Amino acid sequence: MNATIDAATDPAAETAAATTVYIGLGANLGDRGQALRSAVQALAGLPGTRLCGVSSLYRSAPVDASGPDYLNAVAVLETNAAPQDFLARLQALENAAGRQRPYRNAPRTLDLDILLWGDARLDTPTLTVPHPRMEERAFVLRPLAELAPQRVTAAQLAAVAGQAIDVLAGPQWVEGVATL
Ligand code: AMP
Repeated sequence: MNATIDAATDPAAETAAATTVYIGLGANLGDRGQALRSAVQALAGLPGTRLCGVSSLYRSAPVDASGPDYLNAVAVLETNAAPQDFLARLQALENAAGRQRPYRNAPRTLDLDILLWGDARLDTPTLTVPHPRMEERAFVLRPLAELAPQRVTAAQLAAVAGQAIDVLAGPQWVEGVATL
């Protein structure tokens, strides 16, 4: 029997095709820098996933919430995982980082959002992609524009230009995590 897999006709080979995924990371409680570094490392180690790049590290004031400033970044990954499975993995990482959900927009030790899943548009009770609020947020659009300038327009950046946000460090802030 011929064991060669024909990627054009084999359904398993088709589902194994990697999707480029952009993840927003944020933290505003505890050791925020360490939480984001560990999260990037954990993302790089998810099954069927590789880390392709990380944005600069940003500091932003909370939007629609009180509490300490956030540290934020965006990571780009390639993954063979299905979107819902990947979301469950992200939530497990948030929980492992001590994430509590006492009320909406509460301060958080780690927040991981799926911003873009390839070119997919998903609208399910638990997952909406592109992320429904990403266009309102400088702390998403600025780092995303570094990694994927073709996915963020000048008009979108102009619309969030009034939001308080600084660059704290270039992409080397996450040094020690191998990117491919
Ligand atoms: P958050 O407070 O940002 O952690 O919100 C998490 C909730 O948003 C979870 O119940 C998710 O099921 C839901 N959700 C919907 N779309 C997304 C997305 N693109 N990325 C992450 N969580 C999402």
